[in-house]
Amino acid sequence: MLIGILAILALGLLLAFFLGKRVFRHAKRKRLFAATFPEEFKQIVCRNVPLYNCLPDSLKEQLHGLVSVFIGEADFEGCGGLEITDEIRVTIAAQASMLLLNRKAIYFRKLRTILVYPHTYVARTVSSNGTITVNGQSVRLGESWQNGPVVLAWDSVKGGTLNITDARNVVLHEFAHQLDQEDGSADGAPILERRSRYTAWARVLSKEYEVLQKNKRKRRRSVLNKYGATNPAEFFAVATETFFEKPKQMVKKHPELYDELRNYYKLDPAKWV
Ligand SMILES: [Zn+2]
Repeated sequence: MLIGILAILALGLLLAFFLGKRVFRHAKRKRLFAATFPEEFKQIVCRNVPLYNCLPDSLKEQLHGLVSVFIGEADFEGCGGLEITDEIRVTIAAQASMLLLNRKAIYFRKLRTILVYPHTYVARTVSSNGTITVNGQSVRLGESWQNGPVVLAWDSVKGGTLNITDARNVVLHEFAHQLDQEDGSADGAPILERRSRYTAWARVLSKEYEVLQKNKRKRRRSVLNKYGATNPAEFFAVATETFFEKPKQMVKKHPELYDELRNYYKLDPAKWV
């Protein structure tokens, strides 16, 4: 009997602890979101993130709040001798937060740490064909891990952000993976607002993915980067880069895909100046 009461008490305390933690985190995020955006941060965003300058004023204001939450929550770690500065924090946060504009979430659910290397870095890889395991190396601009960390190369971040019409942006790419991974699997299907939306999402993205695979095989030109033909998760990340950086071409050549992404991101970049 006593053990039973103690167990119930312990469970109650545990629940109260987790609930309290959640309430505290929510309050902290609301406070950060509403805080005044420092002038020096605004200058960094204007200088380093040209996409920001295309946003309507109401979205710029929203982005300031999201950047403040991002910087207040995420742990940035410099790797390979890189020292983390406000310029690095704000430039990465501003681009990643574009993906959260107009949506309910004000932060990435699983994100904790962002590791930043000064240059493209070499990662160890292990591949297997079922009988032979091969250890290799691969040069990376960035990567997103299922349970939190995002790894970025600062030179690629800068290169990606300054050209806003080439649909190559490593921050948009890796944080699209973060959204995709929030439901536990990287499969090109992030959590959608309503269950009823999954059918259209699957139909359109599968069809467009197959078209891109075919274009790659036949060496045809495409608005979408051929890297998107690697697998459905890469397709979603590449489609996100294209949605933000080549929106008008996407509307013209892939209107259904654009509509799905417009519904998901609740943004219409083709109408931005
Ligand atoms: Zn990727």
